[in-house]
Amino acid sequence: MNVLVINCGSSSLKFQLINSDSEEVLAKGLCERIGIDGSLTYQPQGGEKVKTDKAMPTHTEAIQFVIDALTDAKTGVVKSLDEIGAVGHRVVHGGEKFASSVVITDEVMKAIEECNDLAPLHNPANLIGINACQKLMPGTPMVAVFDTAFHQTMPEEAYMYGLPYEYYEKYKVRRYGFHGTSHSFVSKRAAELAGKPYDQLKTIVCHLGNGASICAVKNGKSVDTSMGLTPLEGLVMGTRSGDIDPAILEFIAKKENLDIAGLMNMLNKKSGVYGLSNNLSSDFRDLDAAASKGNKPAAIALKVFAYRVAKYVGSYAAAMNGVDVIAFTAGVGENSGPVRADIMSYLGYLGIQLDGAANDSRGEEVTISTPDSKVQVMVIPTNEELAIARETVALV
Ligand code: ADP
Repeated sequence: MNVLVINCGSSSLKFQLINSDSEEVLAKGLCERIGIDGSLTYQPQGGEKVKTDKAMPTHTEAIQFVIDALTDAKTGVVKSLDEIGAVGHRVVHGGEKFASSVVITDEVMKAIEECNDLAPLHNPANLIGINACQKLMPGTPMVAVFDTAFHQTMPEEAYMYGLPYEYYEKYKVRRYGFHGTSHSFVSKRAAELAGKPYDQLKTIVCHLGNGASICAVKNGKSVDTSMGLTPLEGLVMGTRSGDIDPAILEFIAKKENLDIAGLMNMLNKKSGVYGLSNNLSSDFRDLDAAASKGNKPAAIALKVFAYRVAKYVGSYAAAMNGVDVIAFTAGVGENSGPVRADIMSYLGYLGIQLDGAANDSRGEEVTISTPDSKVQVMVIPTNEELAIARETVALV
């Protein structure tokens, strides 16, 4: 079956058409600046990537252009919409309502809408994408795959904050966690590569991209993760602060005369390795290059990033009473040998030794710990689109 995977943002829409039998990507692309002017980038399998400006007042036009491109006589990959068996939608927040993926019905749409409060930037955009697809592909089954669902297995001690209980009761303030599709995909693959049953393995997945989170997966279930009510908590990220002393907010608000919106903007967009490097870059390639030329803030940013990851690995090893596999994934985790080496330099106490030659590889599945290490450390490229396609097929 061919599955169209849609990841819809407020002004952008990423898509892939995946053949679920061969798991090949038949075509992929991106609509940008929806509601502003609009462009479609489209690439069929084995073909060239082409970007075309197209007026896209709403997501409905964007999806129509995607369908036109996929069915185009020259560059299309299917003859008609009949050859698309299902659509899998990435939905960011499923709150406590969704512990797994679901076939989208009117009730599901309502329940996703009820989670809008928890992800005001993401969920409304996800819903717009689903609505637009339903309008243009009325007979095609649609599935919602939630970023939060995998983490619904966390125990209370991991998801409750030390805040008044009434905030949980009234507003559902708790840890939800994100990147669930990736943590699930990578931890399953880690078990396959380790040759151990998924339900008998303790894995720590380090999803280190521009957004970054860590997850403790015990016997196939997420038992803790570093992102919280929102994706701001946890690791130091590209531009997000991760964990800080909450009292810093009042202190900086007074000094810099910032309101809540100003503070949130600072924490989400101006902090992380970008802020630490004195606004040099949020891209680890730039930071690596600058640090090797002696740029001190860039070097500090990289050190703080690695140290925070190492601290979380330690705390999750404690939470699971041990760890069998540590897996690195996403842009930084898959590609940056130096960052992985820095993190692993803290992990000798776990009986881990770095295989330097293996760690030089980039973007491929590889074990980067020595054969005699007590914990196996792997690099496993994530593939959220394929995971969404698999979930979609399983449900329809
Ligand atoms: P997201 O999906 O959160 O936007 P990605 O997982 O795509 O992020 O990761 C993007 C980041 O990966 C870039 O910002 C960059 O810092 C990092 N990255 C990509 N390639 C490399 C590389 N070769 N070396 C170091 N870092 C890299």
